[in-house]
Amino acid sequence: MFDLDHTLIRTPLDLAAMAADMQRLLERERGPLPARPERYRVFELVLWSKSQAPELERAVWAIALEHERRAMDAAALEPGALDAVGGARRAGFRTALWTNNARAVTLPALERLGLAALLDLVVTRDDMKALKPDPDGWRVISQHFEERPGGQTASPRSAARHGDTRDAVVVGDSWVDGVAAAQVGVPFVAYGAREADLTRHGVTPVAWLSDLARLPEWLAAHFGAFQGSPRRSNRLGSHCHDGHGRT
Ligand SMILES: [Mg+2]
Repeated sequence: MFDLDHTLIRTPLDLAAMAADMQRLLERERGPLPARPERYRVFELVLWSKSQAPELERAVWAIALEHERRAMDAAALEPGALDAVGGARRAGFRTALWTNNARAVTLPALERLGLAALLDLVVTRDDMKALKPDPDGWRVISQHFEERPGGQTASPRSAARHGDTRDAVVVGDSWVDGVAAAQVGVPFVAYGAREADLTRHGVTPVAWLSDLARLPEWLAAHFGAFQGSPRRSNRLGSHCHDGHGRT
């Protein structure tokens, strides 16, 4: 499962600016939110409007969509993204996108950048009940693959692996991805993540990637080869990273 922004693609999406616009709208209508040292995050403001100001929720989402649309128009592939997703597939994995972005802005960007054809499933915020770090997207993803155990790219072995959270991996750049993964017991591979942020939120990646293109190699080493080799074979075990060493 891949995060999108700053994992598979680079966008000028500024989540802090998006949150600031949302907060401005909410405070204009409802008065100041409680002051605190850390800025309010997008998902918190969305949750707040949902529970405290449902009549403003549409306007809050409109702010998100406008920021995303502008950013997505300028999106470029993260180096190694096509190798990572395509290579994961060739290694026998099925691939899913798990993004807090809206479907309407995500799908055109995936097509334009050549990612759409490499993804078996695209889960956007339109498909889930709550944004990451809430793990609801995993519910959608695991259900999808359980309903289609013989999916188009599934090898017999991967068909037997679905639904087992230990056989899935979340790849992302943010603590939000790591927390979502941890809540459902799925290992997290950090790419381009800020270590201090992960630590602060109690996220311990199973691996750090500095080069996305090396993901397939890491998957093969971590899970063992799919053909005729036991899962997590000791032969490949030395390539596993415990989160302390960066690849
Ligand atoms: Mg991201």
